[in-house]
Amino acid sequence: MVVLKGIGVSPGIVIGRAFLLDNEDVVISKRQINENQVPEEIVRFEEALAQARSDILRIQKKISAEIGVEHSDIFNAHLLILEDRALLEEIVNKLKKEKVSVEYAFNEVLKKYTQIFSRIDDEYLRERASDIADVGKRVLRHLLGKQRHTLANLVTEKIVVAYDLSPSDTALMHKEKVIGFITEIGGRTSHTAIMARALEIPAVVGLGNIRNQIRPQDVLIIDGSKGEVVISPGRVTIERYQQKRKKIADLIKGLDKLKKLPAQTLDGCRIELAANIELPDEIPSVIAHGADGIGLYRTEFFYMNREDLPTEGEHFQAYRRVAEEIFPRSAIIRTLDLGGDKFLSHLEIPREMNPFLGWRAIRFCLARPDVFKTQLRAILRASAYGKLKIMYPMISGLEELKAANRILEEVKEELRQTNVPFDQEMEVGVMIEIPSAALTSDILSKEVDFFSIGTNDLIQYCLAVDRANEKIAYLYEPTHPAILRLLKNIIDAAHNAGIWVGLCGEMGSDPVLVILLLGLGLDELSISSLNILEIKKVIRSVNLKEAQEITRHALSLSSAKEIKEFVYEKVKKILPEMIYG
Ligand code: PEP
Ligand code: MG
Repeated sequence: MVVLKGIGVSPGIVIGRAFLLDNEDVVISKRQINENQVPEEIVRFEEALAQARSDILRIQKKISAEIGVEHSDIFNAHLLILEDRALLEEIVNKLKKEKVSVEYAFNEVLKKYTQIFSRIDDEYLRERASDIADVGKRVLRHLLGKQRHTLANLVTEKIVVAYDLSPSDTALMHKEKVIGFITEIGGRTSHTAIMARALEIPAVVGLGNIRNQIRPQDVLIIDGSKGEVVISPGRVTIERYQQKRKKIADLIKGLDKLKKLPAQTLDGCRIELAANIELPDEIPSVIAHGADGIGLYRTEFFYMNREDLPTEGEHFQAYRRVAEEIFPRSAIIRTLDLGGDKFLSHLEIPREMNPFLGWRAIRFCLARPDVFKTQLRAILRASAYGKLKIMYPMISGLEELKAANRILEEVKEELRQTNVPFDQEMEVGVMIEIPSAALTSDILSKEVDFFSIGTNDLIQYCLAVDRANEKIAYLYEPTHPAILRLLKNIIDAAHNAGIWVGLCGEMGSDPVLVILLLGLGLDELSISSLNILEIKKVIRSVNLKEAQEITRHALSLSSAKEIKEFVYEKVKKILPEMIYG
């Protein structure tokens, strides 16, 4: 039995047999042809291109209907590769000149391009290498007359093991048969991770070399919440995970009745329990899980998987859809938070030594008011169609906040001048996710309507622990006394200034830690919609007074471990069934 730790990107426990998605490194030997076979080979090539094209169009239609049009955009890039004159001519010239079979010429030229792209120091362009490879395999399959063993053809339930999953793999995935997947590469924000959450399939990514440790049909356990994968577990381990899974399933079943109930403590303190989204397609799931609204819409995903910037019209359509679909609830739209582990190559941002500390998010927007204003105008225009709020990421101090607000005012004025309607009262807030902002939250509170604490970044910056580095993950401690003190400081400052304060980092989805957040006086929590009911249950099971007592004592303790153990023991008494890991 081997236990591996990766990044859990989609929650849930599944036990099943492995299906290794072959990466189809077909060996294509060099086959010479005669001069008179050349036209025949070219016809074969054209037929294979046409078949690949119709495959892609079919997948694009399917994914657009089932998961959403945004996810199908990536296939436009695939279609463009099939139409690339320079690439196609190079293949035909090679075939004519060297008198080789079309599959050999095609494979050689494609190999050259994928190698060039994969060496480029730019994430977006590197991803294009996998697009070329994906399209290449499809054409080769037709040339070789091979039908791929796709995920659509699975007949029994399987856990898919892959290096990574291409968009066409996920598009063809048979949801009933693919019960989970694990990949060697990828992070929380990778396309694969987003798809896993959208499809609600448990998944762990970033596991490193797994394909040489797992054989087809090996029994695997995935714990998508903890990021754990067990290879060939013994009977006792399987039973342990089955019990844990049953416990979670019973718990979730028992939670269904909470959907329509408020997130309110036993002594009547109401918390706004909202959901985080990356794509408007997630809204039905947000509503189905009984969220009070959207507390964080990460708009940067809208800028990804494309080669140009979204136009104001495209932004507007997306935000209007969010405003209308979530109504009468509200949605907080966060302005572009690029950088860190989220890059967009078309903006030509130079590579930096410390991308998490670099030219990113609001810093970038203030330097590129053209990009910033386009988004702000669209958000403002969409605000006429529902209840929208706006939020700036990565504010480090007052000057930045004032500068952002000045630009927002300019845009508002332009709209007023042209009689474009928007919500004049729209709330404007900041994310508090940099220690300097946390420590000056009393100053910032005078300029905004609300705070939303971004603990994912606040913890990484305060404790100097890269949030994406597995080696130091043990130091990433939400219960570190420094974090609790910062949280208290921010929440108290907000309340002293009479504004509300929420939290939208992952810390809010932890049923143990949520007690501390209640005790600190948080007004709103925004988490993944999959965790809403569980957290609602915790909130509805405690007295605010009790949570305040627990928090007061936790603040007097000296280490992350002590605090964690203390709160854990308390929650175990209040809600024994919530402690399942
Ligand atoms: C955060 O930093 O806590 C947050 C919610 O934003 P992101 O994870 O997108 O940085
Ligand atoms: Mg952040």
